[in-house]
Amino acid sequence: MNTTVVNKQPILSRVEKKRLAQSDTRPRKTLSFYRYVRLDNPDNFRDRLLSVWSDLDCLGRIYVASEGINAQMNVPVENWESFNVWIQSQPELAGVPYKFAVSEGEAPSFYKLTVKVRDKIVADGLDDRSFDVTNTGEYLTATEMNEYIDDPDAVVVDMRNNYESEVGRFDNAVTPDVVTFRDELKHTPELLKIHKNKKVALYCTGGIRCEKASAWLKHNGFKDVRHLKGGIIDYAHQVESQGLPNKFRGKNFVFDERLGERISDEVIAKCHLCRKVKSDTHYHCKNQICHTLFIGCDKCLEKKKGYCSFKCTQVDKLPENLKKPYAKYYNKYLRKRKQFVKTRLA
Ligand SMILES: [Zn+2]
Ligand SMILES: [Zn+2]
Repeated sequence: MNTTVVNKQPILSRVEKKRLAQSDTRPRKTLSFYRYVRLDNPDNFRDRLLSVWSDLDCLGRIYVASEGINAQMNVPVENWESFNVWIQSQPELAGVPYKFAVSEGEAPSFYKLTVKVRDKIVADGLDDRSFDVTNTGEYLTATEMNEYIDDPDAVVVDMRNNYESEVGRFDNAVTPDVVTFRDELKHTPELLKIHKNKKVALYCTGGIRCEKASAWLKHNGFKDVRHLKGGIIDYAHQVESQGLPNKFRGKNFVFDERLGERISDEVIAKCHLCRKVKSDTHYHCKNQICHTLFIGCDKCLEKKKGYCSFKCTQVDKLPENLKKPYAKYYNKYLRKRKQFVKTRLA
């Protein structure tokens, strides 16, 4: 009997994958890229990516849709050349701008390779037929962004979520208090109403969210909307290579195991547990049922042993047969009360 093997990776649990990835100590390049490009068969495209990239031992989280691709991943340095040659040989991907991590973490940025087919490459909640998605804003370089930040006739808007801007943001930026990009788009036109006649500069992590957001704001009557090309990641590289003043304070939150890369030495956030000590290090609560994202200081982390609260330390002590019903109860009633953060974009 003939069977088609689509996913060549053996089925492993998250813990096993993590262990396997940790045992592979080869240096890796972490990068992200996106492209809005028409894909007639996203499923085929996904299978192609999965097959070639698992042969090259790439790890990461990639979203594919009929509107394009959004990739966050790492590649073993020794396979970089082959990876890049393959990318350039693909009509859908050739010439796509890479955004390399500002800093690699101590551990790998990803522990597994997942390529998912979705309706959209970024979950924005918009009906793309209701406005002209191709009417995006013009790009801003790092130098231009710096000028906008100092310009009283301009307003700089952070298109990321509150837990991202909490640890890092541009001087004078408007930082909407939202936990999803969907909500961000819903509220921004109203929030920016008072700035309607100003020049608007948008920014996000790597630029992808601003492609849609700039077209959306223009559709909502904002005339002069621009966005930072390549996002904070590329801004940091331009500041470094061109010796520009750095107007980004703190950390750039990233959607991988590193959870952030330092852009300036300043720590602008506080520990969520004691609310006193300055810290901008994110952790996921060790209680897998909770898994809440929180900022912790060294002292609190030691005291709470990696849990977000005293309750979670207790819940994790429950016998396995009681954990399952508790998880059900937690997800149904308690999770909504906490600010649930899904640290991924699609
Ligand atoms: Zn603390
Ligand atoms: Zn917790």
